[in-house]
Amino acid sequence: MAKSDIITIEQLEIQAQGYLSADDVKFIMWAYEYAEEAHKDQYRKSGEAYIIHPIQVAGILVDLRMDPVTVAGGFLHDVVEDTDITLEMIEEEFNTEVAMLVDGVTKLGKIKYKSKEAQQAENHRKMFVAMAKDIRVILIKLADRLHNMRTLKFLPPEKQRLKANETLEIFAPLAHRLGISAIKWELEDISLRYLNPQQYYRIVQLMKQKRDQRESYINEVIQEVTKQVEEVNIEAEINGRPKHLYSIYQKMIKQNKQFNEIYDLLAVRILVNSIKDCYAVLGIIHTCWKPMPGRFKDYIAMPKQNLYQSLHTTVIGPKGDPLEVQIRTKEMHEIAEYGIAAHWAYKEGKQVNRDKKSFEEKLTWFREILEWQNDTHDAEEFVESLKVDLFSDMVYVFTPKGDVIELPSGSIPLDFAYRIHTEIGNQTIGAKINGKMEPLDYKLKNGDIIEVLTSKHSYGPSQDWLKITQTSQAKNKIRQFFKKQRREENISKGKDLVEKEIRALDVEPKEALTDENLKRIYERFNFTSEEDLYAAVGYQGITAALVATRLTDKIRQSRLKEQDLAQTIEGAKNEYKERKKYKKDSGVIVEGVDNLLVRLSKCCNPVPGDEILGYITKGRGVSVHRADCPNVLTEEAKERHLDVEWEEDQTQKQYHVDLEISGYDRRGLLNEVLQAVNEMKTNITHVNGRSDRNKMAVIQITILIHNTNHLRKIVERIKQIKDVYAVTRTIQ
Ligand code: MN
Repeated sequence: MAKSDIITIEQLEIQAQGYLSADDVKFIMWAYEYAEEAHKDQYRKSGEAYIIHPIQVAGILVDLRMDPVTVAGGFLHDVVEDTDITLEMIEEEFNTEVAMLVDGVTKLGKIKYKSKEAQQAENHRKMFVAMAKDIRVILIKLADRLHNMRTLKFLPPEKQRLKANETLEIFAPLAHRLGISAIKWELEDISLRYLNPQQYYRIVQLMKQKRDQRESYINEVIQEVTKQVEEVNIEAEINGRPKHLYSIYQKMIKQNKQFNEIYDLLAVRILVNSIKDCYAVLGIIHTCWKPMPGRFKDYIAMPKQNLYQSLHTTVIGPKGDPLEVQIRTKEMHEIAEYGIAAHWAYKEGKQVNRDKKSFEEKLTWFREILEWQNDTHDAEEFVESLKVDLFSDMVYVFTPKGDVIELPSGSIPLDFAYRIHTEIGNQTIGAKINGKMEPLDYKLKNGDIIEVLTSKHSYGPSQDWLKITQTSQAKNKIRQFFKKQRREENISKGKDLVEKEIRALDVEPKEALTDENLKRIYERFNFTSEEDLYAAVGYQGITAALVATRLTDKIRQSRLKEQDLAQTIEGAKNEYKERKKYKKDSGVIVEGVDNLLVRLSKCCNPVPGDEILGYITKGRGVSVHRADCPNVLTEEAKERHLDVEWEEDQTQKQYHVDLEISGYDRRGLLNEVLQAVNEMKTNITHVNGRSDRNKMAVIQITILIHNTNHLRKIVERIKQIKDVYAVTRTIQ
């Protein structure tokens, strides 16, 4: 679509005769005459007759080889908006189809674009597609925009920038999606001229300077390829590929490259007759010049989303510079240049198939290529997009400020309100649609401007809202509101229930509901606070009995232990009393002496493992003392010493040991000491505890042990108890 010269109606008619039947040409010329009559006396900003504009729009559509209905729509696209002609009149004069196209273009014209952010531009593009039920509406709109851009110089500068920006963000990407690269490039280049004239003209200058040098080089390449291709009898059309200003500009900006780095990249395009020839030519190219690794792309086997097909490769060209080569069939080239329009193109001799099925097939095809599937960034969005997979299922509406909001079709003002903000949703009391009060269950339509009325005194959502809202977002927020509202109620109810259950377990709530204990339990149930825990009990997300059981588990356990301990001590005492009735074997051997009465001294209580010595008493046999017992270390006593030793197997026997434990006098210390000994499976035969004024506690215990190893373990265990200062083995 390089030509930007004005086409006259006579030229247009001749061009149309090239592909339309005589009847069809008559039909479009009738539309022209009707439009000319309607627009007479109207002038454009350029001063020329208004009809020039519809002629150019129709001309662009003829360039795209569009069907007569679309071309007629091009001629008539402004009459309803700008003249007294009504849609009904068009329908009566022509047919429903033409009227429908004109209506579509008129409606698209009313969408106010407000450049803000990428998402908004994206929504605008989607809205265009959604609103234009027939894609030919978009094609007319693109042709309209293209001619308006070609004549942009007649508008004031600020309007130029606005239109150029809008074109770059909405219309050029739309043309790209539809695969109409011819229109896309021209729209981009013109937009750049108005948005960044300095850069635009700089690139134009640079291109001019290099042109001669470049052209001779390209010609050399073309000659070489032509020669090679002719040798294998392949018919091919070889061209130097024009580079577009905007794409050069983008590469310079985005990839931060110098002009030379981009423009010196030579590019040729080879058009052939068949797919087989595409690959044959590729083989020739790769034989002539060395391919650059990683640059070959097969878009024939794997077409792009907009149906673009071609082979791309880059080779090291004749002068050692990279040379880009595109190879495709002429048909593929049509698609590459005219995209969806090529698909729609009216072929002479064939009537446009207007039957329902073929039309539906085409629509499906449009929607497939229009799927914005690469724009979904994360899983959540992807799932959302699956739910609303066709644009026809979406409705696009405006905030009073002009932002576009996309909602599933069937959405109501409440869905819109919750999309804007949760608080706005909760405080909604009504809605104005296009300035008029409407009920809250009004079904939103494309292009509606919605003003939500709120009140701070609102009591919030009603249960009905859950039924009438369409989006899961709104429903979730309404549910959240109800949950939160009942929260206070649930917390106090939950707390009462838990306390009751605690009492049922014979525990004082005060004892169980310490901060520490509560934290332990709510974390265990994955709540973040005790309020959450109580609230969950309140709305019966969890039973009070379970919470109470868990809250009291430690208290009940320690009670059981205390009972156990008391029983153990009692048992030990009884056992000792029993034992005293019998004469026990001391487990000590006196060397060379049999049948000697040997007993263990009560003052130092020696146990196996201790160094011991025997002491010959006056008339009471031998008593065995620890070697360090002061009672037998006097000079006088030494004369009565006797060597003794422990029998080897001592495991069955038990010996008394006195321990004295001192520590800080706190509640529970004695219990913990007894518990520790008990844990070591050791019997206690005597316990005595006292404390002094300085809060020093002294606990004396007598325990039954097997040997010094056993004793050492017990002492170590006792020393681990908090507030125990010292453990000593006592001698009386
Ligand atoms: Mn127009």
